[in-house]
Amino acid sequence: MKLLLCLNCNDVFSLSSQLKKCSCGKTKGQYMDNINAIYEGESALPLGISNTSLKDAVLNQPDRGMGKEFIAFTIPRDCPTFIKKE
Ligand SMILES: [Zn+2]
Repeated sequence: MKLLLCLNCNDVFSLSSQLKKCSCGKTKGQYMDNINAIYEGESALPLGISNTSLKDAVLNQPDRGMGKEFIAFTIPRDCPTFIKKE
């Protein structure tokens, strides 16, 4: 799952086929198909969440105590499926 973090307003949001923006409007992006996405903004930082680890964390949500961790990561600046528009 691809997401964007705006380093200006700290919003984190998932992408869809519709163009989405953060609260301050400096970061925006959208999926072009099921895999490829584009984003823009000098404050934009691309993030990924491992779908399988998120599904596991959802299915194993604890009733109390520590939360169930899942894998999130920064996507490289040079990524062929998540391209920054200049
Ligand atoms: Zn923002």
